[in-house]
Parts: sequence; structure tokens; C-alpha cells
Amino acid sequence: MSKDRFAGKHIELFQLPSLITVDVIDNMLSVASECGASDVMFRSGTEVRARVNGAITKITDVSIDKEDIARFIGEAETNQLVTSVTAGHPRSFPYRVISKGKIQRFRMSVAAVNEERTEQGMRLVCRPISSRPPRLQELCLPKDLYEALTTKNNKGIILITGETGSGKSTLLSSTLDQKARDEGIHIGTIEDPIEYNLFYLNNETDSLVGQAGLNSHLHTYSEGLKGLLRDNPDVIMVGEMRDTDTIKLGVEASRTGHLVYSTLHVTNVAATVDRICVNFAEGERLAIALSLIDSLRTVVNQQLVPTLCQSCATPVRSDDEMLKETGADLSGARQPCGCDVCANTGYSGRVPLIEYLVFTNHTRSLLLRTLISEGIQGITMQLHELTENHGATKLMAATNAFEAGLISPEVFYAIYLENRTIELVNGNG
Ligand SMILES: [Zn+2]
Repeated sequence: MSKDRFAGKHIELFQLPSLITVDVIDNMLSVASECGASDVMFRSGTEVRARVNGAITKITDVSIDKEDIARFIGEAETNQLVTSVTAGHPRSFPYRVISKGKIQRFRMSVAAVNEERTEQGMRLVCRPISSRPPRLQELCLPKDLYEALTTKNNKGIILITGETGSGKSTLLSSTLDQKARDEGIHIGTIEDPIEYNLFYLNNETDSLVGQAGLNSHLHTYSEGLKGLLRDNPDVIMVGEMRDTDTIKLGVEASRTGHLVYSTLHVTNVAATVDRICVNFAEGERLAIALSLIDSLRTVVNQQLVPTLCQSCATPVRSDDEMLKETGADLSGARQPCGCDVCANTGYSGRVPLIEYLVFTNHTRSLLLRTLISEGIQGITMQLHELTENHGATKLMAATNAFEAGLISPEVFYAIYLENRTIELVNGNG
């Protein structure tokens, strides 16, 4: 993936005026997103923070009040939204800032939180969104993964997994962009909220693309999915496999001639099936695991990690016992140092580590056999082994990035340990 997509710059401290207007916040959001912030975080009773290159820093000189956040949300959306959030209903909504003639889009999430002196605090997290997803080729994916994601066999489920802020939605939207260009197909999405406006695909390709956002166009995922199925699209994108109804409908759709793309909040490929089944009552789990395994085509897990500043990184010591234990080739590995280019942090930008498994008839029959004999626990173990032998694990991706001097020994070692833990839990240690 092109590195500068995730590169961020240091944000100068904002001197807040006594009255914090929408313009003040718009300016803060616009500057922070220009500096490459991946999140701007407002929380009443404390200074505003921004996440740049994965690290959080304060970006205002003084704290912000709940009234400031509430007033902003009231003006950006409605006062009813403020009331609803205060009553305990976290909400997200799309937002746009127009600065220097350019539109910058954000995904805003707002919720009530505790505060130092009162229990009536509020937080607002603003995530900048590009107007178009990057082209799939720009993401430099392994060839087999690229082909699996853009499969012309429009049946089954493709899951993009990862933690919040791992770039799942971007990878998913880039994939849909490519699918729309490759084939003349009907794509329907249900998102919460719509992250990229894909309408341009209707003008630039033969494909028909329709997007619907939760709360703006629909009330629930499952209701939206039912409605969408009546339109008989070739490809369906469901923002998240969130509840049992959505999962059931998604699986059913994938078995009746639709290709379903979705995301899941999970930290590795192996845990995917277990993570989905755990939503269901004990008695339903086996049945859902069976249809899921039958439907899965590809599972991707993505994590963004800080990249070493290429201007100052220095070679690692080749006699480091801890690093030698990992078996990595240390000849090209480097560690952070700090210079003017990276504001002495040693890091600049982020790089994705991608773990994935492309399912084949063979893997599916192996998994089904394991499911029958050992249950879902056995599936997690086998998925880990299959990813190691037939796909790519996060450790493999991290090892490559570490050996190429892109990521620090700390980041690499943390992923090495995480993998060791999975293996110990699975009894392979
Ligand atoms: Zn540097």
C-alpha cells in the first residue's frame, strides 16, 4: 500500500477562543485532517486530542465543555440528536466541512460519558473520510488476494475483519469500486453510516450502485437487507455482521446467488467463525457454523501499525537475544531514532499488515469435517493452521515488514508474541 496514504504531520496547538463556534470546530477538523489525523476526539472536561500515525496528542490549549460539544452537534445535526445521546443512545452521523473550496467528509460518533465532576459528559469522535476510496491496485495486495476479493463468481461471503480504524471500510469500498469497473453488475449496500459516496460509479461504469445508510435511509440492517434482496442485486455489501438477523439473512443471501461483502470486528482470521457463532443461542450455533463455512469465500484481517521514519531509522543490534528468538533475518531490520522529519518520534505514517485465507472446496470440506467432530473450538484451531499453510498470517506480514526495515522491533515483537499466544491456546506451542 502506498505509504503516504497513512503519513501524518505534527498538529500545532490551537488557542481556543471563549466561544467555541461551529467555525472553530470546522477549522480544527480541517487542519487536523490535512495533517493526516485519523481521528479527532472531543471529550467534555478535557483538551481535544487527535490521533496521528496511531499516536494520540492534545491539540488544544484548554479543555472543551459539554455545552460546546452539544451546541456543535445541535447545529451540525439537530437538538433532538443531542437529547437522544444524552438519554443514552450513542449515534453516528456523516458530516462535511468546506475549507478552501474543498469538501472534507467526516464520520462523527457521539455518546454520553462520565466526567470528572459530573456524570453528564459527552464525547465526540470525528473520523476524516476521503471522498473516494483508493483504487484497489494502489493497495498493493498479494495477487491471489486481489483476485479472491474481485471474484467474478458472485456467490458466497467475503469478510473484511479488523479493529476499529484498521481500514476495513476503505478496503471494502476499494473492492466494490473495482468490482463495478470489472463487470456490469447491480451492487446494493447497507452502511452505518455511508463512508464513501460511491455514486460516481453509476456515471463511470455500466454497473448500478445503490447505497443506503442506517438512520438516514433505513431503520435496521435486517430490514434493509430484506428490502435489498427484493431488488435482487448481484453484490450486497452489509456494513457489519452485527446481529443474528443480519448474519442469518447475509448467509441466506450468499447461498441464493448473491455475493455478500461485510466486515467484522475481530483481531484475526482464525477467530472469525467463533466470533459470529457466539451471537447465537447454544442450540443454533452448529447450524450457523455449517452454513457459514459453506458460504465463506475469503476472510481478510487488517491491522494498521506505525511505520519507521525512513529518514532516521537505524539498524537493530544483530545480537539482540529477544529478536534472535523470533527467527527473523535481522540484516535489514531497523529501529526508531528521531529527527526533524518525524518531529523526533521515530515514526511516520502507518502500514497495513494483512492476514488472509482464501477458501477452496478442499478447505471447506476439511473445516466441515472438523466442525462435526470437534465443534467450533476445533474450527478456530484449524483456521489458524490453514491461514499459516494456505494463506498469510499477520506474523508473516509483520516479519516481511520488519525484515524490510519498515516497522520497529517493538511492533514486530508484539505481533510475534500475539501469534505465540494463539499457538499456545491451540496447543501447538
Ligand atoms: Zn525521523
